[in-house]
Amino acid sequence: GEMTQAIAHELNQPLSALTNYARAARSMLAAPEQHLALLAETLEKIDRESTRAGQVVHRLREFFRGGGLRLASVHPASLIEEGVSPARRRARRNGIDIHIPDTGMLPNVRADHVQIGTVLSNLLVNAIEAYPAQLDLIEGRRIDIDVHADAPGFIRFCVQDNGPGIAPELGERVFESFVTTKPEGMGLGLAISRTLVEAHGGQLWLESTRPARFCFTIPSMPEPTHHA
Ligand code: ADP
Repeated sequence: GEMTQAIAHELNQPLSALTNYARAARSMLAAPEQHLALLAETLEKIDRESTRAGQVVHRLREFFRGGGLRLASVHPASLIEEGVSPARRRARRNGIDIHIPDTGMLPNVRADHVQIGTVLSNLLVNAIEAYPAQLDLIEGRRIDIDVHADAPGFIRFCVQDNGPGIAPELGERVFESFVTTKPEGMGLGLAISRTLVEAHGGQLWLESTRPARFCFTIPSMPEPTHHA
């Protein structure tokens, strides 16, 4: 709902800009020699705007790949593996240790492993990106994942880093579409992640701004009933 609105809005801006630039370029063609520099600049803007619109679409497709929700019984350890594996190399390159909990005692959850893997890897990428790029500032870089039984029927997953944390004035706004503090950021990761978790019947929230700690819940599989 709200996210679709935000995305439609976001795509509408580059599209109307593109229309305006194209019209301007066409009118410059009436006297092309006098407008060559401006024409080149306008084409450059068309290129930039359309690339950005394309990136938004690409990002969305990446998130929602696999189509609808495919729920199955899956162990938390497999979900963690699914989320960690795409981020592992990048973490290592940046000198960050990812700490994975022992989940042996936990029950299976009811989840689409692709979607929840995406949510986890998104939280991990944000945690990795929170650390400054300079490798000389490498002391104590770690990301902790923890998983616990939550309210009855739910398992809670949390991802925490000891980077600079989230500015308090940003707070809950990190979940809004297109809110980003990164030069190359899209600001879609957390908005989409929240949508994916809520589609599972769970919740995703910012538990602490400093240290940055995000948690989400997923329903566990019902316990088998034992008959005497
Ligand atoms: P993006 O990563 O494209 O910016 P997100 O929706 O994933 O989009 O994140 C929105 C913003 O939330 C980020 O730009 C960043 O400012 C903040 N944020 C998210 N996770 C963290 C974190 N672990 N530490 C610090 N800031 C974070």
